[in-house]
Amino acid sequence: MAGEPQADCLFCKIVSGEVPATVVRETETTVAFRDINPQAPTHVLVVPKAHYPDVASLAAADPQITADVLTEAGKVAAEDKVDETGYRIVFNTGSGAGQTVWHAHAHVLGGRGLNWPPG
Ligand code: 5GP
Repeated sequence: MAGEPQADCLFCKIVSGEVPATVVRETETTVAFRDINPQAPTHVLVVPKAHYPDVASLAAADPQITADVLTEAGKVAAEDKVDETGYRIVFNTGSGAGQTVWHAHAHVLGGRGLNWPPG
């Protein structure tokens, strides 16, 4: 069923605690944890606890949880104080855009200069 945990999903295992992660925030609907391979001084992933393969399917199924993910991304940025200098929220969507984990997640990146356009 849509949103149900998937046995083979890494981020479902982080949500359940089966795989350890450095969790920085948690709400009823979301978990935020530091990326294992950070690309910036602040690199946090915000995921819905419910399993959806990407942000588009999450948004189509549950606009409120999509909003929760974005709200939490902003709180992560504020707690890491990268809101003062600017930060980026990225949802890689599809393998051609660099998505490698098929559980919707926002990257919160900050703490260094971020070029535009991205690579
Ligand atoms: P994507 O490439 O799908 O947009 O982002 C997946 C992210 O998950 C990558 O930035 C990658 O470093 C991160 N990642 C992959 N495996 C793990 C893990 O086991 N723990 C954590 N904390 N992050 C992971």
